[in-house]
Amino acid sequence: MTKSNILTDTFGRKHNYLRISLTERCNLRCTYCMPADGIQLSPKDHLMTYEEIYTIAKEFVSMGVTKIRLTGGEPLIRKDAALIMEKLSSLPVQLTLTTNGVIVDKFIDHFKKCGIKTLNVSLDSLHLQKNKEITRRSYFEKVYQNIILLVKEGFVVKVNCVLMKGFNDDEVIDFINLSKNLPVHVRFIEFMPFDGNQWNMERLVSLQEILSKVHSNFEKNAIVKLQDAPNDTTKSYQIKGYQGTFAIISSVTNPFCDGCNRIRLTANGQIKNCLFSSKESDLLTTLRAGKSIIPIIQKAVQTKLKVRSGMNTLDKFSQSDIHSNNRSMIAIGG
Ligand code: SAM
Ligand code: SF4
Repeated sequence: MTKSNILTDTFGRKHNYLRISLTERCNLRCTYCMPADGIQLSPKDHLMTYEEIYTIAKEFVSMGVTKIRLTGGEPLIRKDAALIMEKLSSLPVQLTLTTNGVIVDKFIDHFKKCGIKTLNVSLDSLHLQKNKEITRRSYFEKVYQNIILLVKEGFVVKVNCVLMKGFNDDEVIDFINLSKNLPVHVRFIEFMPFDGNQWNMERLVSLQEILSKVHSNFEKNAIVKLQDAPNDTTKSYQIKGYQGTFAIISSVTNPFCDGCNRIRLTANGQIKNCLFSSKESDLLTTLRAGKSIIPIIQKAVQTKLKVRSGMNTLDKFSQSDIHSNNRSMIAIGG
């Protein structure tokens, strides 16, 4: 096997997109992402240093990775986040990050310096009180202002919103209307099951339900279906005349595994070949032992299953006890 096809799996999917979690910690406590009493954090010396992150990323780039997303936990609360962005920006990749937006204002110049052009910012409610409830913290206004700041500074901003029935599903149209005068790209994410997040199918707002809300609020000819790129996880739309767009990420009711090009690296140096896989491959121990990490990467890619780590039916996927073998989302890196 040559270096250029190590990241191609047995279904012909090329993995050119690496998502690196910088930390298991966060300044918010979103209920759908982590249990109320927190998670067991990895000991500090089990976490990748910035040099290790760079070394591993460089290896992936040499095998064909062209896009790197930094995530977490909250990537920006890591003390050396700026240094990591700077190191990774020296690689020939599109560098981007997913953040809760609380402290992005402190990084504007740095993002520009590192060539970061697009950011995903999470915001699940446009109401102060509901936001407090979901994040278990009070930063709504800060995040909202920071989204506006990012747009003003010329960044492409995608707003990630996890919908939950009876909680924020009544805000679908308000979120879409956010894109009327603000060129943001709202992405509704179906609530997914992870360890300790009390998922159940009844709380999920499906692609179909979201679309039916859209159709009952806008004229048919005002709803424009946009073209999705081959590896896109989203189904994108725009309301005619609106500056921004909206999209739906339907990992539960409509998985997009066929075009999956993602591989994940956790903050403690494990790779996960699928978001829903409880299996992990330890790169960090091997790297620290001075051995090649390539055989481990190769095996992880070659053993990737076709659909959601083997949970190919909604029935299998809905058995929430299966997900307790996996990590909480905060420790995977969404
Ligand atoms: N702290 C950053 C943030 O909140 O954007 C990055 C990490 S967070 C784990 C990455 C993304 O995963 C966020 O957009 C979050 O909404 C999403 N996420 C977390 N738990 C989820 C769940 N159970 N279902 C769907 N999306 C989830
Ligand atoms: Fe933190 Fe992001 Fe998880 Fe919320 S979704 S707890 S902001 S890591």
